[in-house]
Amino acid sequence: MQVITHPVEKLRAALISSRPDLVEGYKQYSKEERRVFEDCLRKDSVLFQSITIHSDSDWIPAHPEESQDFQSFFSNPYRKTPSKGHNTIYIQTIGSFGEAGVHTDLYVEWLRQYCEAFYYGLLVKTLPPVTVQSTGCTFRVNSNTHNLQLYAGDLLNFLQKKKPRDAFCIVGITMIDLYPKESWNFVFGQASLTEGMGVFSFARYDDNFYNHNYAGRLRRGSKPKPGDYSVFSNYYIPPVTGTLLRRSCKVVSHEIGHIFGLKHCQWLSCVMQGSNHLEESDRRPLTLCPVCLRKLQSSVGFSIASRYKALLQWVEDDGGSAGKQAVKPTEAFKEYRQWLLKCLAMLE
Ligand SMILES: [Zn+2]
Ligand SMILES: [Zn+2]
Repeated sequence: MQVITHPVEKLRAALISSRPDLVEGYKQYSKEERRVFEDCLRKDSVLFQSITIHSDSDWIPAHPEESQDFQSFFSNPYRKTPSKGHNTIYIQTIGSFGEAGVHTDLYVEWLRQYCEAFYYGLLVKTLPPVTVQSTGCTFRVNSNTHNLQLYAGDLLNFLQKKKPRDAFCIVGITMIDLYPKESWNFVFGQASLTEGMGVFSFARYDDNFYNHNYAGRLRRGSKPKPGDYSVFSNYYIPPVTGTLLRRSCKVVSHEIGHIFGLKHCQWLSCVMQGSNHLEESDRRPLTLCPVCLRKLQSSVGFSIASRYKALLQWVEDDGGSAGKQAVKPTEAFKEYRQWLLKCLAMLE
C-alpha cells in the first residue's frame, strides 16, 4: 500500500493558486470556510485524508494523468458553467427500475434529492421514465457474462434529442449493463462533456453481479433477435439496498462533476478520484476534497455551510417522518453523517 502525500506548500498552491485575482477570491471566503479548506494542510487533519494506492490496478498507477489544481480548472475556457437559463440537471431513467416499486420510485427520488444537495443551488429534475424500446437502442448478450447490454452510443444520441432547453446537463441512468463498442466487454458509463450529457449503469453495483448464479444471466446460447425488446420485460433488476444507493449517489455526483470540468482528483481522498474497479470505488469517500470543493463552489456559487446542511438533512431524513414507515436505507451513510457533523461544527 502506498500513501500519496503532497508537501503542504504544494497542496496550498493547488487550493489557493498563485494568480493574484484567485488569491484575492480565496480571501473572500469567511474565516470559518477557510478553516474547513485549510484543514487539509494540517498534519492532524480532522476532515481530509491522503489517497492510498492498494495495488497496480488502482486508477492512478493504471491511468497516469496530469493533476488539475484550482487555477488550471478555473482557467480552462472550455469547461461548462451553469448559467441563468441553463441551471437544471435532468435525470432520465432508462428501462425498468423494478416492479411496482414503491422502493424503486423512491430510489430515483432519493438520488435526485442527493444531487440537489450535492450541487446545491441548481435544480435537479427527473424526466418521465422511458422504456428501452422507446430509445431504439441496439443491445446484445455479453458472451462472457450472458447478461443483456445496451449500446451506450445509441443512448447518448437519444439523450441529446431529449435534452430540455434549460438543461445544464442531462444524465441517463439504467439498471442494465452498457457496452461502448463491439470489442469491449462493458463500460460503467459514457459521457460527452461538451454536450453536457452522460449515461451510467448501476448493473455492476449489484453485490451479486459477479456471482455464478447472478439472476441477470440469460440461458447459455439464447440469442434475442435484434429489435425484439420483449427480453427486457421481467428482466432482472438489482434490489434497492443501502449499498446500491450509496454507490449510485457516488457515481452520479462524480460523473456530473466531470461535466463541470472537474478532472480526476490526485490531491486527497475525494469523490472525484478515478476508480478502476468496484472495490476502489467503494473505498473513495462521498465527499469532495478542498481543492475540488473550491472548483465546484466557484462554478455554482453556493454557500458552503448551506450545502453541507442540505447534505446532512438528506442523510438524516429516512422518510420516516409524518408517521410513515422509514424506508430510506440511511444506515449506509452513517460515517458520512459523522463527517458532515464535524465539518458543520468547524463552520460555526
Ligand atoms: Zn471519472
Ligand atoms: Zn478532490
